[in-house]
Amino acid sequence: MQDPKPGSRRASLFRHAVYTLHQPTQLMPFAYYARLSPARQRIYRESDAIQSLEPPPGVATGAHVARLRTSLAAASRPDVQRACQALIDALVAGYGVQKIRVRVLAQRPADEEGELHGLYEPDDAPKPAHITVWMRTAARKDVVAFKTFLRTLIHELCHHLDYELYNMSETFHTEGFYKRESTLTNALLRAESTAAGLPG
Ligand SMILES: [Zn+2]
Repeated sequence: MQDPKPGSRRASLFRHAVYTLHQPTQLMPFAYYARLSPARQRIYRESDAIQSLEPPPGVATGAHVARLRTSLAAASRPDVQRACQALIDALVAGYGVQKIRVRVLAQRPADEEGELHGLYEPDDAPKPAHITVWMRTAARKDVVAFKTFLRTLIHELCHHLDYELYNMSETFHTEGFYKRESTLTNALLRAESTAAGLPG
């Protein structure tokens, strides 16, 4: 298992080698916690303590999620990018945090460490924060499964929220972080199925 690497606000890019291998299996800090300074351990514990994240109240997300699913199924990169941007715009407006520019690229880059699923780059004024996600696997160039794709997009948003919503000075991969990613992704999928059941 590859340790998630902690990031510093200005300098880091976030690698996502085989994504499912990062899932926590026990109620303990990840191994890299022991190597952090006491100040960074405090941020880690703060991150770990926030165990769920709901969509902002009153923000309709179901139609955006449904559009993202359709665009990905059609393998239309410009449509996927528009749908991702619309969903992220709705979420950041609802949370009252700074905007993010979303970029969707075709084939995931890969090296011996694995495939890159997504990337978050914090704002570097006047450049806004960026999320990059890839819609095709590196090896077979297949379109990525919808839930995996949505989860990656939300994972990158969660890095942004660590800085902008929770005012943490660093963003760490903690068990709490993965739970926030997971609860928000699942809530969005529920919003999609609810929206699909309504007329119009
Ligand atoms: Zn990450």
